[in-house]
Amino acid sequence: MAEPFPLEPSLWAATAPPAPVTPPLEGNIAADVVVVGAGYAGMSTALHLAERGTRVVVLEAHEPGWGGSGRNGGQVIPGLKYDPDELEEMFGPERGRKLVDFVGGSADTVFDLIEKHTMNVPLQRKGWIQGAHTEAGLDIVKKRAAQWASRGVDGARELSAQDTGHLIGTDKYLGGWVDPRGGAVQPLAYARELARVAMAAGAAIHGESPVSKLERAGGKWVATALCGASVTADRAVVCTNGYTGELVPTLRTTVIAPNSFQVATIPLSDNIARSILPEWHVTSDTRQLLFYFRRDHTNRFIMGGRGPFREPNGPQDWDHLERIATKLFPQLKDIPIEFRWCGRVTLTRDFLPHLHEPEPGLLVDIGCMGRGVGLQSAMGRAMAEYVATGNTDALPLPLVPMKALPFHALHRAYMAGIIAWYRMQDGGLA
Ligand SMILES: Cc1cc2nc3c(=O)[nH]c(=O)nc-3n(C[C@H](O)[C@H](O)[C@H](O)COP(=O)(O)OP(=O)(O)OC[C@H]3O[C@@H](n4cnc5c(N)ncnc54)[C@H](O)[C@@H]3O)c2cc1C
Repeated sequence: MAEPFPLEPSLWAATAPPAPVTPPLEGNIAADVVVVGAGYAGMSTALHLAERGTRVVVLEAHEPGWGGSGRNGGQVIPGLKYDPDELEEMFGPERGRKLVDFVGGSADTVFDLIEKHTMNVPLQRKGWIQGAHTEAGLDIVKKRAAQWASRGVDGARELSAQDTGHLIGTDKYLGGWVDPRGGAVQPLAYARELARVAMAAGAAIHGESPVSKLERAGGKWVATALCGASVTADRAVVCTNGYTGELVPTLRTTVIAPNSFQVATIPLSDNIARSILPEWHVTSDTRQLLFYFRRDHTNRFIMGGRGPFREPNGPQDWDHLERIATKLFPQLKDIPIEFRWCGRVTLTRDFLPHLHEPEPGLLVDIGCMGRGVGLQSAMGRAMAEYVATGNTDALPLPLVPMKALPFHALHRAYMAGIIAWYRMQDGGLA
């Protein structure tokens, strides 16, 4: 398998505050809980455990935020792929309602953590707009807005084509809806600040410490890093998401982890900036292979979406995003692209995030479905409570068995087929 694309070429690595010092693991140490993976999920778990007085050690293969958490679009969007009514139908009225509250509050979790810990994270919170690209998309957004509004989300509303055009700055959508809970963060700054506050609360985080073995010995979990150093703990939590390797048998084959691609322009002049998302909303659309875009605090325009399933070969692998950006906003035509990067998202067979407990004391969280800024921050808090108390009610989703996707070895061909099919269905810009 090709090496994953590095973090450094991203806009976020160029504009985030420096990474906190997270020295590699040395020796053989003991803890209550060992966490593998320093993304939002792992670090939120560590922060919330440390705040309870638990001795927690996080082991990260590279540096905090190196995975999806430092590369994403920075759009903080509550909810899941499924609408509230669907979730209540799938999980029953009681568990379903709790899940709806959990995912509905996931954006609050991020902004509350930033405020509570006075994190140095550039942010905006002006709402998320989902543009409808077809009549079918219009039905989706209408239903979605009504369902959240009926659950008390003030300001969740359907948008006419004219309002959508005005708020996004393009006439390419037939309408949309706005979710006032959404917003944006500089994602790597948020990841690095989460690391800083988790360490301030008492967690230890070790970077450049890839875990090569995780095994049970004498009723404990021993996580051994490639260098031979180890952590022995009562419990282990694995949060490796799209960068999951062979550490936990079968886990990698339960998901597909394609890259999502992004480009960012140079900072826009004021008059061009004012013509795109003038009120600082963030946005994505109703396509199966959705496009997501926004302006950041430096006034760069950032466009994200699908790309080749393989790791990129060169700048041409981002060309389609540049084309789509100028179809939406012709004023971007001669504006140079300054950054091109990508990162892995994970898709599960049922489009839900998965929690597994393959053996006693080993908790696994995987399957962000490309919407993990809020979700994984909130999931980490829930996992910390579960690990500390043993109460499964703390978890928003049931613990499910790990099941390999059928024909996982063929997933590249499978994904290429799905992408081609969705592109055809999505039509228009795609
Ligand atoms: C390009 C892109 C755009 C996205 N846009 C958005 C968006 O706008 N909004 C949104 O909500 N979500 C978005 N997402 C999804 C979001 O980024 C993820 O859901 C979230 O960051 C996942 O967090 P995590 O902690 O689960 O995993 P990650 O942040 O991926 O962290 C996993 C970590 O595990 C480490 N690791 C793996 N194996 C080992 C090992 N053996 N030992 C030690 N460490 C290991 C990796 O190095 C990595 O740092 C996007 C994702 C990508 C890639």
